[in-house]
Order: sequence, then structure tokens, then C-alpha cells
Amino acid sequence: MKLVLLGGPGAGKGTQAAMMKNHYGIPHVSTGEILREARAGGTELGRKAAGYMDSGKLLPDDIILGIIEERVAKFGGGFLFDGFPRTIAQAEGLDAMLGRLGWALDAVVSIEVPDETVITRLLKRAEIEGRPDDNRETIANRLKVYYDQTEPLKAYYRKRGILRTVDGLGSVDEVFGRIRTILGGAG
Ligand code: AMP
Repeated sequence: MKLVLLGGPGAGKGTQAAMMKNHYGIPHVSTGEILREARAGGTELGRKAAGYMDSGKLLPDDIILGIIEERVAKFGGGFLFDGFPRTIAQAEGLDAMLGRLGWALDAVVSIEVPDETVITRLLKRAEIEGRPDDNRETIANRLKVYYDQTEPLKAYYRKRGILRTVDGLGSVDEVFGRIRTILGGAG
């Protein structure tokens, strides 16, 4: 299966992506994780990414598309993108890459959670994981960036008939159950 997982900050994308990766046996690609690893490794990409990430801003589309381009051709059997695409330009870039490979997305799953829940969840994650971008100011910024730049992707994929929305409230297993139902007989 070729899937994209969409959702605002704190919607539970990373958690559900890990469940889906195990269940469907497809590689999981998180651009946020790739960038955090690059930072930890002190690479040039990591140094470039730091300022954007700490202020809750998106990295330029060409950098992100370069990261994906390096990896996508290796995923013949399927993949799950989490945190990518995040802008219309990235979605168009992905379409072009997949088109060159003769592939198409099977579904875009959007996990939907109210803003109040997101803020509580992210502040809790800040305590547990100590992610530098989980503070009140950055959270507000990331929410704004999500509504301005990423939410329009829902209309983009709805038009194509591949958008599936999932209620992200409830336990991890409940949400995962909804995702399995939505993706249908595929396991
Ligand atoms: P995430 O873990 O997906 O919330 O990503 C953490 C941060 O990495 C974001 O707030 C952005 O600064 C950056 N980032 C991750 N994915 C992307 C993307 N597809 N486009 C631009 N920036 C990204």
C-alpha cells in the first residue's frame, strides 16, 4: 500500500504510523524523524533544519522533496509517509515523483483532533520527551502553519477521491481500529 498520513501537530501521526508500519509491513518515512536524526548527527541538513524546527516553521519545499526523492524509488512494495507532504507544492512534487515511477497513492488518511486536545497532548509530550519544539509558543505557531499550509491538502486529495478522515480521539488502539476499517480488506 502507498499511503500518506495527514494531521496537525499532536494528532497522533507518529504513534499510528508505528502501528501501521507493523501491521501492513510497509516502510514508514517521517520527515520530522529524518530531520531530528540529521540534527543529532550534526550534518549540514541538520544545521539548516534547526532554526526552522525550533520556531515551528516548515523547511523549504526543495529541501524536503530532495530528502524524499533520495528514498522513494527504494519503496517498490509500498510506503507510509508521515509528516510529508505538508504543502501543496510538496504534494505536487510527490505526484510528479510517483508519476515517473508509474505509481499512485492508494489513500491519504487524515487524523482529526480538536485544537484544545492537541495543545494538552503536546505540552505533555514536552514533559516526557523534551522535544524543543513542544513549547506553548511553538505549538501555536505549528498549529497556524498547519491550518495555513497543510490543511489545504485535504481538499487537494478529496478532489482526487483518496482522502479518508479518521476521528483521532480515544485510545491508540481505538484510533488504529478506525484506520484499519477505513483501509478496508487490505489486512
Ligand atoms: P514533525 O515531527 O512531523 O512534527 O516535524 C517537526 C518539524 O520538522 C516541523 O515543525 C518542521 O519544522 C519540520 N518538517 C517536518 N516535515 C516537514 C515537511 N514535510 N516540510 C517542511 N518541514 C517539515
